[in-house]
Amino acid sequence: MSSPPRSPERWTVGRLLEWTAPFFKQKGIDSARLDAEVLLAHVLNLPRLHLYTGYDRPLQQAELDAFRALVKRRAAREPVAYITGAKGFHEIDLKVDKRVLIPRPETEMIVERARALQPSRFADLGTGSGAIALALLKALPAATALATDVSADALAVARENAAALGLAERVTFREGRFFEPFLGERFSLIATNPPYVENDAVLDPDVKAFEPHVALFAGADGLAAIRTILQDARGVLSPGGTLLVEHGKGQGEAICRIARELGFEGIHDHQDAAGIDRLFEAKTKGS
Ligand code: SAM
Ligand code: GLN
Repeated sequence: MSSPPRSPERWTVGRLLEWTAPFFKQKGIDSARLDAEVLLAHVLNLPRLHLYTGYDRPLQQAELDAFRALVKRRAAREPVAYITGAKGFHEIDLKVDKRVLIPRPETEMIVERARALQPSRFADLGTGSGAIALALLKALPAATALATDVSADALAVARENAAALGLAERVTFREGRFFEPFLGERFSLIATNPPYVENDAVLDPDVKAFEPHVALFAGADGLAAIRTILQDARGVLSPGGTLLVEHGKGQGEAICRIARELGFEGIHDHQDAAGIDRLFEAKTKGS
């Protein structure tokens, strides 16, 4: 098991998976079997579950070489989504690469909450791949959005995703820090998944060595970006407008306290499916 497989005659789909999964495990990867399947399905251009009906299919040399290269990348802890270049999020598929954070399943919660509010127009601050804005536009066929990011690289990916999903006409992308690119426009809904990881947090190597640090880290307590957002959102939300902010485990209480001090109303913190405080919601005073 010292080096990835080379000669095709020995390797069927099944044997390859049975070799790769323990190899990944040995490299400290928890989702070893799933990752092996996703990468092999990607190389063979098949839906993952079809691997099981072709378990005895031998691989051609070119397929084996391609798989071998991907196995090497994953063994070095590059995330699967960067290797395949795609990630499913809510009801859409997004192109992703190292310029953007890989959208997380827990972020679907902010999309669901925002969808329930039925905005005709909303803003997504720190859009990354475009995940929140594009999933919400897909779910709300009449809505339009402003999506911003401090990273020009991220916006390039988000624009590609908008075009690929046929949503480009309903979203405006602008580059800049916090509310600068809002250019004075007010919104009845702002949804944001800002960076919220503590600077000295111990992260999985897959995250720390590969994902953009500007998307993750936010000061010693992880609240630097969220504090600025709460401070400045009051001037950008219309009266009675809603702010939705994803945050990290254990941060909800501090965020609610800051929001109370700033005079927000209807303050509520939602837990995610794993029971972790995850989504802050509040309103500005109505008119
Ligand atoms: N919204 C995407 C998602 O949920 O997958 C990406 C979220 S990622 C955690 C945070 C994003 O905020 C990154 O794309 C990062 O470039 C951007 N960002 C970081 N600091 C920012 C700032 N001061 N102003 C605007 N965007 C910022
Ligand atoms: N959920 C991400 C992580 O734990 C952090 C994303 C963020 O900072 N908004 O790696």
